[in-house]
Amino acid sequence: MAPAPTTIARALCAATRRLREAGIESPRAEARLLLRHVTGLAPELLVRERDRVLVADELARLEALVARRAEREPWAYLSGEREFWSLRLRVRPGVLVPRPETETLVEAPLAAFPERTAALRILDLGTGSGCLLAALLHEYPNAFGVGVDRSAEALAVAAENLEALGLRRRAALVRGDWGTALSGPFDLVVANPPYVASGELEALAPEVGRYEPRLALDGGPDGLSAYRALLPDLLRLLAAHGLACLEIGAGQAAALRALFAAAGFTVALRADLAGIARCLLLRRAARP
Ligand code: GLN
Repeated sequence: MAPAPTTIARALCAATRRLREAGIESPRAEARLLLRHVTGLAPELLVRERDRVLVADELARLEALVARRAEREPWAYLSGEREFWSLRLRVRPGVLVPRPETETLVEAPLAAFPERTAALRILDLGTGSGCLLAALLHEYPNAFGVGVDRSAEALAVAAENLEALGLRRRAALVRGDWGTALSGPFDLVVANPPYVASGELEALAPEVGRYEPRLALDGGPDGLSAYRALLPDLLRLLAAHGLACLEIGAGQAAALRALFAAAGFTVALRADLAGIARCLLLRRAARP
């Protein structure tokens, strides 16, 4: 007897079981997402068409995606996209997946520079997918931005994202080590540097530790190496009335406040939606 054809309902069951066995927290919800991705069906249609039989191509794509997700590959790499600041961005292995808490680094400049038509000169150090640069250029239609990354792969993704959002003409993408190759001044500098202490990389969720780029995560022995490395560039590149917004990890605020205050910055903090001090706001201290 031929095996029963795989209906949407059966595929959903099988995928859920496989994801549960792999330790995925919400296996049913994720299985539904994968099925929707493969079939293109809206959530309610997935229910209404539960007895529809999947065609061979859909089944093959579903199996491949379920296998990758069961290995704990992040959903964003499977779907190839992620929303950030309501913008749809492309992502793939080689760039950090944009996180909601990083939107704190868009909110902070918007509060500091409320004039949206300002021709701000923006620098994004370690631009990755280009999420911060894209969101800021989107919010400031007369701004010009420079995105820097050490990874050519990341710069390619950033270029695709800026292009797709119609922002490419207002951005320059540069391969480099923080700001060393650049000259300023910039009104606004943003950065989401790697800030996970090397010894803590092993404890990250498999989605992060196994799949996301080390270059974007590994902050050295105490997690703060990148901040020390880019500090001289900030001093050199920030305009007199400029603002730098740096993402920081939970628990790093005190050490970083001390580091940047000692270098002559006034330091403020902005919390993310979870209440964690997430963004370090730096300005040049006024000369006495
Ligand atoms: N927030 C990231 C995490 O998942 C770390 C990102 C970074 O180091 N900039 O731990």
